[in-house]
Amino acid sequence: MSGALPVSGGAGPASVATGRLAGVLGQPRAVALLSGALASGRVAPAYLFLGPEGTGKRTAARAFAAGLLCKFTVHGSRSTGDACGECRDCRDAARGTHEDLSWTAPPEGKRALPLEAALSAAGSLALRPSRGVRRVAVIEGADRATEEAANALLKTLEEPPGASVLVLVAETLLPLPPTVRSRCQVVRFGPLPEAVVREALAARGAPAAEAASLAGRAEGSLGRALAALGGARPPDPAALLGSRDDGRPVPAVAAEVLAASTPEAGTLEERRQALLALLAEAARETRGRLAGGGAREESRLRALVESAEALRRNAAPDLVVENLVLRLR
Ligand SMILES: [Zn+2]
Repeated sequence: MSGALPVSGGAGPASVATGRLAGVLGQPRAVALLSGALASGRVAPAYLFLGPEGTGKRTAARAFAAGLLCKFTVHGSRSTGDACGECRDCRDAARGTHEDLSWTAPPEGKRALPLEAALSAAGSLALRPSRGVRRVAVIEGADRATEEAANALLKTLEEPPGASVLVLVAETLLPLPPTVRSRCQVVRFGPLPEAVVREALAARGAPAAEAASLAGRAEGSLGRALAALGGARPPDPAALLGSRDDGRPVPAVAAEVLAASTPEAGTLEERRQALLALLAEAARETRGRLAGGGAREESRLRALVESAEALRRNAAPDLVVENLVLRLR
């Protein structure tokens, strides 16, 4: 029997986000609670999203924040209890560029949530909304707050600024002072059913056997399974580019695509966007050469276009790149 997957320290399943509660996988109770709040307009000043790593808390926080800021949820008479996912508020909330949304997490590589993070969230909530009716602050790693940070959070919770919603995200309850816990509406995120993890992996392009094996070891954490999926088959530039039967150099685009796909090139979403831009450029060039190129250029173009399509369907970039490079050789 294979052991449990290691806990990932990475950014988690950022690519899962659709920006709507409808896109939160396998958490019907949490989604019903949040959707009910959006539909009724009875929104608590503070929520605590509580559950194991990789179970959708961040995705749900992103969607809930969008729902709170989206004018079609908040003001609309046809409230669906979810963000529309398409308006400017929703797009900016999903991108993290909405002026009324503050998003804070422990600094990269650090475990503790420092005082400055709590103060910055509190300061942002105290401002007047610049676009809509309220401000929203999400604080990840609330259970890792230092004592000073927890005290600052408590101050905000005791006197929530006018129209504001604070969402604390935590994996465990105990490190949080009871005074903080008692002022939040707790939204629980349980381990995801194995089938949900398996299907999510398959939807990202994992072969069925691999998806089943990873899902079986993920302990209900899609985040873990995705990290393992990315880590299980790192594209090895040396091996992929090393030899070619006819001895000709591998197309420059393959090298560029490989460079853009390494973890150092950015977050999963940044890599996805960079790859899409590269593929589009390469496809344009290839199309230009098609007239005199014949079958070789045509199959190359097909590989580029299909890779871009796979990325848009949220396939794992590493898998897409590995496959593409093999086809370009
Ligand atoms: Zn919207």
